[in-house]
Parts: sequence; structure tokens; C-alpha cells
Amino acid sequence: MLMRMSTLFLRTLREDPVEAEVASHKLLVRAGYVRRAAPGIYTWLPLGLKVLRRVEAVVREEMDAAGFQEVHFPALLPREPYEATNRWTEYGDGMFRLKDRKGADYLLAPTHEEMFTLLVKDLYSSYKDLPLSIYQIQTKYRDEARPRAGVLRGREFVMKDSYSFDVDEAGLEVSYEKHRDAYIRVFTRLGLEFVVVSAVSGAMGGSRSEEFLHPTPIGEDTFVRSPGGYAANVEAVTTPVPPAVPFDDAPAAHVEDTPDTPTIETLVAAANAAHPRPDRAWTAADTLKNVLVVLRHPDGTREPLAVGLPGDREVDLKRLEASLAPAELEAFEEKDFAAHPALVKGYIGPGGLGEESASGIRYLLDPRVVEGTRWITGADAPGKHVFDLVAGRDFTGDGFVEAAEVRAGDPAPDGSGPLELARGIEIGHIFALGRRYAEALDLKVLDENGKQVVVTMGSYGIGVTRALAAIAEGNHDDKGLVWPRGLAPADVHVVATGKDPEVFTTAERIASELQADGVEVLLDDRPKVSPGVKFKDAELIGVPTILVVGKGLAEGVVELRDRRSGEARQVPLAEAVPAVTAAVRG
Ligand code: ATP
Ligand code: MG
Repeated sequence: MLMRMSTLFLRTLREDPVEAEVASHKLLVRAGYVRRAAPGIYTWLPLGLKVLRRVEAVVREEMDAAGFQEVHFPALLPREPYEATNRWTEYGDGMFRLKDRKGADYLLAPTHEEMFTLLVKDLYSSYKDLPLSIYQIQTKYRDEARPRAGVLRGREFVMKDSYSFDVDEAGLEVSYEKHRDAYIRVFTRLGLEFVVVSAVSGAMGGSRSEEFLHPTPIGEDTFVRSPGGYAANVEAVTTPVPPAVPFDDAPAAHVEDTPDTPTIETLVAAANAAHPRPDRAWTAADTLKNVLVVLRHPDGTREPLAVGLPGDREVDLKRLEASLAPAELEAFEEKDFAAHPALVKGYIGPGGLGEESASGIRYLLDPRVVEGTRWITGADAPGKHVFDLVAGRDFTGDGFVEAAEVRAGDPAPDGSGPLELARGIEIGHIFALGRRYAEALDLKVLDENGKQVVVTMGSYGIGVTRALAAIAEGNHDDKGLVWPRGLAPADVHVVATGKDPEVFTTAERIASELQADGVEVLLDDRPKVSPGVKFKDAELIGVPTILVVGKGLAEGVVELRDRRSGEARQVPLAEAVPAVTAAVRG
């Protein structure tokens, strides 16, 4: 393969695109790999497509090596299968829905569990056909609320999705492990550092689920790790429940005047000033904060919800949303206050909350609010708080919820030590789905005893375009991209500089010889473009090896540059091809 810059469909840009915030997004646009077509929707240009194909090839090779077979589904699908699993509704606003000319409902698939299940049902009927794992590398559509960072979070993106089919749990366990191992090989080959963390299964259902996160400060996911080896997405962290506290000697709850204390800080200050504790000062952790949100259910209904948690912790909206999936969170607005006139803003307490209360608002508590804990909290009257309100004696919630932020130093749920927090990009996700989809779509096979059994499934995704962006993010400097060898759009960038026609014919000859050796070449053969511009473009594009054919040619030498280290060395012309081949083949 030989690409010539003189004819390559490419315009590099010197300026960052205005909407871009992260380096990979800026550089993939500036270096001419992608162009934005619409928010979260990108066009792949020749250089970008080359890299995408190379990333796909790694994924495909490892899937094939694991014995999984490739198929390819349409992206445009009918409503019925998704209706059968309830995902037509459950997927909510994230799904692109459309109608055909006859008015029939269709969707652009966000993921393909239903179709894979039906295909296997169509063709297989016996335990002898299983286990089976099939996959595709295919375009997915999700109407993301916040498309971000170019192809990192797109509304159209490429995913590798696989599905496993087994007759029993033990089989699923084996299929799951095989996928896990294959993912480890894929990300290792892509040079993407990763952490495997426990995840919540969310709207997918199922039992075991893990995410492959690529640690980076620009990641949207927060994960935790403990010294003892616990690792989880922050959404999946469960709060260790403290033991109940005896409350026999607790004083009766008493309402106190606390004027102008709508925030936790003002409340703590007022409590210490006017109602001091004998043994120690009140802190935010002594207060019970009640936060109102609105749940938007997949069918469009809105449900107000109150969350009670210790006042020293913020609500982590992502954790709360993960706990309540498939519902999504919305702000509790003025109109919601208007609909609940009993709520006193800034002074809302357990007394006014709960399904049995006057407001009727469901009230969920942080797991730390165990029986016997004593709180200062809103008294449902302006400027008033109630003290010594005892959980289990004076109030209860309608249940518990994981909503509070997880903080560094919090104990790991499995007792393996204090947690540390970091951010990452979700590049892969594996689910032991179980029987939800097979049951809904009636996928059964005959087992050894001639009995019909529901098949158990797994589903496994890799964000191919997202992985590409993550690789770009981790492989750049201030001058441009620096692709890992094997993923770059070419193996070598041959740059012909100057005006001497000899330079161009020599560069052309070297390029063809390299090509004949199986080396992929990007040749800068543009006439009348200055060496400075050519070097800048080469640095921006980021092919790992650069061969400069220019001034040195008069002395019989060319220059071999390493894009990553910046090292350059003179090579005699006769050794140019073997030197490049050696560098490329490492
Ligand atoms: P996220 O939490 O980032 O929205 P998800 O959990 O919804 O992702 P999955 O349904 O697990 O995603 O999809 C499998 C993989 O597809 C993800 O691990 C991720 O790498 C990739 N992916 C998901 N959504 C997007 C997107 N909008 N753009 C690019 N890649 C995506
Ligand atoms: Mg996921």
C-alpha cells in the first residue's frame, strides 16, 4: 500500500476545532482522520479509516482465535423483538426510533441481544449445537444525552459485540472466561492499559458483569481500587452497612429554631452556637440531608423521589441513576415544588417524606442510616430543624439506595482495605446475561435428557471507535499524534523535501521498494510545499517512522527519524530500505 500526499484526500488544520476539549478529538480532526457530520456523528477520512481497520483487525483476529464466529446484522431493525424484551420502552430516549412508509416501527440498534437470540433460535434446537459464541463488528446508534470528545462518545459508533449461548450456568461461566481472556489479549495488543472492574448490569439485566476501563484523567467513569485487590466502577460500589446503634437512652426528638439555615454549613454553625453538644461539636455528618430528584421512567412518566443521606456526603447522580436504572434522573423543579406545597425548601425532613406521608414522595435512605442512628434534620417548617431524630424509632424510609458519593479512604465492601479513586474510559464490557433474553424470545434447546431448557447467554462489547480515540489520547505530544506501531495509518512516512527532481525520484523509488517488501508507505511527494510544512504535517499525522529524503541526498544519505523519541540518524542511501524495514518490524 502506497499513499501519496499529493493526491491523498486530506487537509490538515493548524487550529484546534472550537468544539474540541480533549487532545484526541483535537488531533484526530486536525490531522485529517475524522470530520464531524453532526453532533456525535463522524465521517472517517482515508487516514482515519486505515487506523480503524487496523484496530478492527486486532479485535477480529482475537475473536477468531478464541473460536468465535463472525456474522453481520443490519443496524435497521423492526420493533417486535425489542417489544418482546420490553427494551423498546425500557431503552428510553437513548434509542433512535423511526417509521417506514407503511407506518411500521423500526429502530437503529443500540445493541443486538434480541437479534442474536432470534438467529440462534432460528437455526439451533439441541444442546449438541452448544456452546456457541458469535460476534459482529458493526455500527451502533445511541441518542446519547451528552455526545462528547469526538468519537469517544458518539451517537453513531463502531462496536464489536459478541453473544454466547450455553445450556447451563457452568457453560456460561466458561464462555464468560473465554471472552474475558480474549479481551485481555485485545487490549494488550492495542497497547491500552486497562483495569477490570466489577460493574452494575444496568438495563441489561443479568448477574456477573465487568468493565474494562482504561485509566485516564479524561475518563467519564470513576472507579475504585483497594490494596486487597477489590476493583469496581464507582456505580457498583456497595456501602458496608454499619451495625445498628442502641437507642434506649436517646432523648425524645425535639424541634429547635434554627433561623436562616437552609444549607448544611449554616445548620452546623447554628446548631453549635445555639444547641451545643456537651461531648463534642456537631459536624455535617450528624445531619441528615434530604435531596429531591425526579425519576423519568422509560414510559415517560415522572416520579419525584427523595434521598436521605448524611450531610457530609454529596449525592453522586451517576451512582443514583445506576441504582435506579432504567429510570433516568431529572432535576426537581419549581413546578414540582408547586405540586407539593407541603415541602418547605431548605427544611425538608423525613416527616414530610415517604409513600405513607402527606407528600406521598418515595423516600430512600443511604445504607448508613441504620436503626438507632440520631440525626439533625429538617422539621418541615421554615427556620426549624428537629434534633435527636432516631432512625427506626422516629422515622423509616421506603427502602435503601446507593446514592452517596464514594470517597477516597472509604472501606472496600469486601473488607480489603481503604479505597482509592481514579478515572477511566470504558473500552469493554462483559455481561453474564443469564436467561432474560432467551426467556423473553423463547430460545430453548433439548438437553441430554430430551427436555426443553432455556438457553443461558452472555453479551460482550468492545467500543472499537472509542478504543481508537483512547489510543490517540494516550499517544500524542504537543506536535501531534504518535501512533503505536501496527496501528498507524502507515508503517513509514517518506518525506521528500526540496526542489531537486532527484529527491522526488529517489523517494518514489524507496517507497516502491518498501511497498514491495510489504511495508505500508505514506509518501509526501507534494511539489512546492516547504520542508517546514511537510515536517509539521508528518508530526501531526503521527506515523511512528519518518524517512526524510532531502538535502543529504547530495552526500548520499537520508535521515531516519523516530516520531516518538524524536531521535534522528543519517543512513546511507543504499541502506535506506533495510533500515526502514528493520525499524518497522522492530
Ligand atoms: P457508557 O457507560 O460509556 O455509556 P455503556 O455501558 O452504555 O457505555 P455498553 O452497552 O456496555 O456501553 O457497550 C459496550 C461498549 O461500547 C462500551 O464498553 C464502550 O466501549 C462502547 N460504547 C458504548 N457507548 C458508546 C458511545 N456512545 N460511543 C462510543 N463507544 C461506545
Ligand atoms: Mg457498559
